[in-house]
Amino acid sequence: MSESPLTPAYDPAPVEARWSSFWEQRGFFQVDPVREAAPYCIVIPPPNITGSLHLGHALNNTLQDVLIRWRRMCGDKALWIPGTDHAGIATQNVVERQLKAEKKHRDQLGRTAFIERVWQWRNESGRTIITQLKKLGASCDWSRERFTMDEGLSAAVREVFVRLYNDGLIYRGERLINWCPRCQTALSDIEVEHEETRGKMYRIKYPLADEADAFLTVATTRPETLLGDTAVAVHPDDPRFNRFIGKRVRLPLTSRTIPVVGDPILVDREFGTGAVKITPGHDFNDYEAGKRHQLPMLSLLDRRGLMTEPGLRLAHVLPDHQSTFTGKSALQARELIVPLLQNDGLLITIEDHRHAVGKCYRCKTAVEPRLSPQWFVKTNDPQQSLAAPAIEAVRSGRIRLIPEGWANNYFGWMEQIQDWCISRQIWWGHQIPAWYCKNCVTKSVSGTLSDQDLSFSDNISLEVTPLIQQDAPRSCPACGSQQFVQDPDVLDTWFSSALWPFSTLGWPERTNELAVFYPTSTLVTSFDILFFWVARMIMMGLYVMKEIPFRAVYIHALVRDAEGQKMSKSKGNVIDPLEIMSKYGTDALRFTLASMASPGRDIRLAEERIAGYRNFANKLWNAARFIQMNLDGPRDTAPPPARSLADRWILSRLQQCITETTTALERYRFDEAAQSLYQFMWHEYCDWYLELIKPALADASSPVAAATRQTLVESFEQLLRLLHPFMPFITEELWQAVPHHGQSVMVAPYPVANSALMDNTAEQQISLIQTIVTGVRDSRVTAGIAPGQKLEGTFFSTDQHTAQLVTQETIRKAIIQLARLSHWTVNPENRPTHAILIPLTLPDGQQADLMVQLPQDTTEIADYLAKELVKNQKELEKLAAQMARDEKTLSNAQFLAKAPPAEVEKIKARHQKSQLECRVLQEGLQRLKERSQGVS
Ligand SMILES: [Zn+2]
Ligand SMILES: [Zn+2]
Repeated sequence: MSESPLTPAYDPAPVEARWSSFWEQRGFFQVDPVREAAPYCIVIPPPNITGSLHLGHALNNTLQDVLIRWRRMCGDKALWIPGTDHAGIATQNVVERQLKAEKKHRDQLGRTAFIERVWQWRNESGRTIITQLKKLGASCDWSRERFTMDEGLSAAVREVFVRLYNDGLIYRGERLINWCPRCQTALSDIEVEHEETRGKMYRIKYPLADEADAFLTVATTRPETLLGDTAVAVHPDDPRFNRFIGKRVRLPLTSRTIPVVGDPILVDREFGTGAVKITPGHDFNDYEAGKRHQLPMLSLLDRRGLMTEPGLRLAHVLPDHQSTFTGKSALQARELIVPLLQNDGLLITIEDHRHAVGKCYRCKTAVEPRLSPQWFVKTNDPQQSLAAPAIEAVRSGRIRLIPEGWANNYFGWMEQIQDWCISRQIWWGHQIPAWYCKNCVTKSVSGTLSDQDLSFSDNISLEVTPLIQQDAPRSCPACGSQQFVQDPDVLDTWFSSALWPFSTLGWPERTNELAVFYPTSTLVTSFDILFFWVARMIMMGLYVMKEIPFRAVYIHALVRDAEGQKMSKSKGNVIDPLEIMSKYGTDALRFTLASMASPGRDIRLAEERIAGYRNFANKLWNAARFIQMNLDGPRDTAPPPARSLADRWILSRLQQCITETTTALERYRFDEAAQSLYQFMWHEYCDWYLELIKPALADASSPVAAATRQTLVESFEQLLRLLHPFMPFITEELWQAVPHHGQSVMVAPYPVANSALMDNTAEQQISLIQTIVTGVRDSRVTAGIAPGQKLEGTFFSTDQHTAQLVTQETIRKAIIQLARLSHWTVNPENRPTHAILIPLTLPDGQQADLMVQLPQDTTEIADYLAKELVKNQKELEKLAAQMARDEKTLSNAQFLAKAPPAEVEKIKARHQKSQLECRVLQEGLQRLKERSQGVS
């Protein structure tokens, strides 16, 4: 592309569209695995196909793209593998909602038609997120896009399942699991969210079976579950109750008596009534207690969370009450049981009580612990633990978690790890590769089963041995039948994503990609999926590949609103990244996110921040325009000593910026890298360098101008390369518009600091100039002198060297030019009169005096003061009006009663700030009045 003139203002949209397609067409994102170069690989955390780009994705993918673009420019074969996750329950919910709108249910469609419908939805809508990632500038190798349900990945899933099963690490068992009655599926522990809820505590009498008038009091938040109690526990060392151990109590509303057992784990003597009911079929702690005491386990609820007639019958609920409870949900049953207990004189008290309730993380329905047959991965088998090597990999530092503080969370969780419930009773997902012989199933399960019945895996008895293999078996080894039915359950969606780092590289095939890029380099993820995903990838990588899946895990924060609140649609505080991108440009959003990615748990994002970085992009654009306009004439690469002070200085600062940026990127300090680039571009390159070189450029034919033109272009072109990973679009546009070598900035080399260009002398001298010029500028503000007004400057230093320096031609000229002085005098015999004294601390720590003489000609200054007066007055009036409005609001009792406290606080804070500003303005106004009386 030619170096065509830039438009006066930066318009991001056309620029972004142009370069996106340019990069893709040239194949710059694609990686040849056999090319001679160091491998660098990131696998994307696959977004759900139900997703659309939110700020969390924007942050996550910006950081990955910064790393990939940086490593690519460093010469690595940098591969970023994209893809999406089928998101089992989430996707099934979306399609179920669509069906509901059509007044249909998935059962009417049947499994095959339903799955077809989900595929159809996925093909139409499931790639929205990919299009949006491309818009963000994500430089993934799109030719390698994967999907957790594509053919290759499904084969990997089946293969790993079979291996784990054959190694005895997958089993089917009846366990108490978390059950969502709405999704009608099992959930793993971490899919349950615990929410503090207002409830009640019921104290209930359990009369002793063979002692009249004696009873134990149990306290429970869920009285309806007592129908499933199989024991009461007391503490064996509790003198009040331990004499009851071994006796039996009558269970209210049933014809059963249940034993009293001693259990020091379940019963806390300090807390509650001293006696605890045990309901192993409906509570996790009780389930463990039930196993300790070999108690029977009763299950009262069906898959919809409703009490069943057979369950109630098995629990020996009194016949009258059986019909009362049949078909009732837990909540309904609770309301029904209270009056029944009261009638029998067994309810002692009901008190308000706050406690945590588990909710389904997908649909927020209260989760019921439920006994049901499920598939599990044995995570901590004593013979072949999956967890232990995964702990060791992090402890030994083979896998680095960044920031390191997360390692403790990781160890804490991994050391307590439970077996992973991997079966889900839904249709969308990887169906479990377990087959049952129809003939044998029918024989072992009483009665005959239709295919419809078999869709409820609860009905397949645990005694029936399935055949576990990748594909359907030919004939039953027991009876020879060729009729099989596949286990209807599907795998937890995290099962397939746990294989992501190697399945996306082609496993179980032995591909070049796998040989070159596994283990991958860095994983970039947020902390909320550390256990769902990261821990399981580590376990599966070590199990299947015998090698860690990645060397470093960078864990970033969550994006919250400016007040630190979670963004949510209901709060109305969501910032939509796509809107932001079209309003401020994608680069501004990316730079904002990178600059805020400091270690910590949340990022507080206000739209003003993004607007600020849009200005940064504009500044960069204007600098490029300035350069374009000053390129007429030869450019000459003079050896460093022959270059001007300003040139030597900016090159030295540039080396510093390169070092800082690179070091920061190596340490995953995206924020520090961004700040270093911002500081250099704005405050050094634009504020000082471009100003310093204006006189040299003005004489376009001089040899100095030729060298300066060269430095100007050279340093800017390098700055664009440094900035490219953060702001890919604008840097490409500008890079193409200034002199450069190569096809694209994205494949140009990342700058490397050149220590030969470091120049301490130049840095010290410019620093001295900056101190003096800033001193003069400050004095203008305090004295109310117009920025353009020429002033006389006088400088006093007792240090010979300093005095000599500031009289040197180059430095003198620079001070006069930048401070807008008419005269510059150093150490004269007499101190000037009518001058402001500014004491300076020079960069080397010495003290010096700067004096700025007020101008003789006062007309200009009077004009300026008059204008300032009017401006100040106007501002004051505006402020006063705002204050009056706020005062009125704050004295409105009705408003104060209704408004959210945060809003009231906001107004109060604004009012306080206005008061302060008002005082400052009034003082300034007073000074201006005094000054203008003095001049006119
Ligand atoms: Zn649910
Ligand atoms: Zn059979």
